[in-house]
Amino acid sequence: MKTIGVLTSGGDAPGMNAAVRAVVRTAIANGMTVKGIRRGYNGLMEDDVIELGARDVSDIIQLGGTMLYSARSSRFKTEEGLAEAMATCKKHGIEGIVVIGGDGSFRGARDLSLRGIPCVGIPATIDNDISSTEYTIGFDTAMNTVIDMVDRLRDTCDSHARCSVVEVMGRRAGHIALRTGLSVGAVAILVPERDTSVDEVIEKIERTRALGKKHFIVMVAEGVGGVDEMAKKIEATTGIETRGTILGHVQRGGAPTVRDRVIASQMGFEAVNLLKEGIGNRVVAYKLGKIVNYDIYEALNMHKPFDEYMYLVADTTSI
Ligand code: ADP
Repeated sequence: MKTIGVLTSGGDAPGMNAAVRAVVRTAIANGMTVKGIRRGYNGLMEDDVIELGARDVSDIIQLGGTMLYSARSSRFKTEEGLAEAMATCKKHGIEGIVVIGGDGSFRGARDLSLRGIPCVGIPATIDNDISSTEYTIGFDTAMNTVIDMVDRLRDTCDSHARCSVVEVMGRRAGHIALRTGLSVGAVAILVPERDTSVDEVIEKIERTRALGKKHFIVMVAEGVGGVDEMAKKIEATTGIETRGTILGHVQRGGAPTVRDRVIASQMGFEAVNLLKEGIGNRVVAYKLGKIVNYDIYEALNMHKPFDEYMYLVADTTSI
């Protein structure tokens, strides 16, 4: 391959820039030309394409967000949308594309691969909810942001309210809630993968209060929701002053951590090495500390089990 494209799609995540940088520089190191496609598949359909040299990706490894912008596009899923995308590839001589995004974006990458533009996906989302990989770019940064904010909440919690019910992001998965809950010593962690009733939370608060626990953090994944109602019920039942807090989109921003910069760089490097060999329709993934890759179809059909062991650790240590 002589010319490849790179785009970021779906929800943005810290570390996407580090991945773009790695893709561009690995490609250039291998004698290829790189086209940056802006605004995800929208830019591919609408010919929003820029050439990226090694210096165009200077000073971005430390930045959150994505210099290529991201978007969601329903039109891309139609035959007309795909035809426009193919026309843009032809116009710019794009022979393969690195797609940085989530499972939705990988479905688009599969469609393009089937039409003759080999694509390689790189998993990036703060939610870590991509089935084929143990780790997604952005997860670590988002979790560090969460624990930083909850630690602050705890300071004021100590002075006023004694219980905080905190909602964190994660879409339909509880990965962020589980690990951050463990890290802030949450008395209870509510995730969509497990049924936990408010009564069980209250029971644990009462039980640990009897053991001398003075302040309580309840971590709730957005896929469970309902923090304000939960806070009211906890306060009404236990008499402990309780507040609900939704952390929201701040979790998506900020400078990527070392872990995110390193994994993004490794994945970008790996993706280009696949395309260089003419190998497409693959997604790069993280497994047992190593960067691996899978067929997209196979990847999309994988199932990621909930980490029951981690849940047990969190539950056992928060008494
Ligand atoms: P993510 O990539 O983070 O999962 P989305 O699910 O929003 O985010 O997908 C991003 C984009 O990928 C969509 O806006 C659409 O253009 C494309 N996409 C999503 N699902 C499909 C699909 N089934 N077929 C083709 N393209 C898709």
